[in-house]
Amino acid sequence: MAIQPSGGRILVVEDEESISQPFAEALRRAGFEPIVTATAAGALELAASTEPDLVMLDLALPDGDGRDVCRELRRHSDVPIMMLTARGTEMDKIVGLELGADDYVVKPFSAAEVISRIRAVLRRSSRAAEAPAKPIEVAGVELDPGARIARLNGRELELSRKEFDLLRYLVEHRDEVITRDRLLDEVWGYEQFPTTRTVDTHILRLRQKFEADPERPAYILTVHGQGYRFAG
Ligand code: CA
Repeated sequence: MAIQPSGGRILVVEDEESISQPFAEALRRAGFEPIVTATAAGALELAASTEPDLVMLDLALPDGDGRDVCRELRRHSDVPIMMLTARGTEMDKIVGLELGADDYVVKPFSAAEVISRIRAVLRRSSRAAEAPAKPIEVAGVELDPGARIARLNGRELELSRKEFDLLRYLVEHRDEVITRDRLLDEVWGYEQFPTTRTVDTHILRLRQKFEADPERPAYILTVHGQGYRFAG
């Protein structure tokens, strides 16, 4: 029997075996290589030792908070992260919070649906890895997409992964009015997760780091009723 090429190594961090076991099995059938751990400590250890292509991370773990694990992973790595959360108040802890996660999944979930979202996230991250685009320089803004460094008038900005991607997209399409839906499609890359409100939250955060006066932005302009425009 031919050995199937791995669709990617997926680290599943989930303490409920009734979720992690069937999901790992579904991943295996879909050609992925699942690695399962039930703890926050295991997540950090295995993320470092196995270099997964994507991490699925439960919010409530027996030895810690998935959000802390997410932040910790982000300090060292760009690995795509999908947060797993129960419906209701747990969900509120993720929505609207900038953790550096790429997506979130509400439990109970359909394995098939989540696997197609995993594929979408992986396609985007491999596209990004394939094309280490050239540095961009516009009106005092320098972006180095390969190193993911952004500078404004020579000063390096501390941006999250999403903030960088968002800024890059706006700069690359400067002087176009870009709708929130287009930003969701192009920067987040999947339908309706998260919502257009997330776009606005990220724009606000980006302005705070980027604009001399975030209340009166000179670069990232709101076009009322339409979306945003980068003026460079
Ligand atoms: Ca849990």
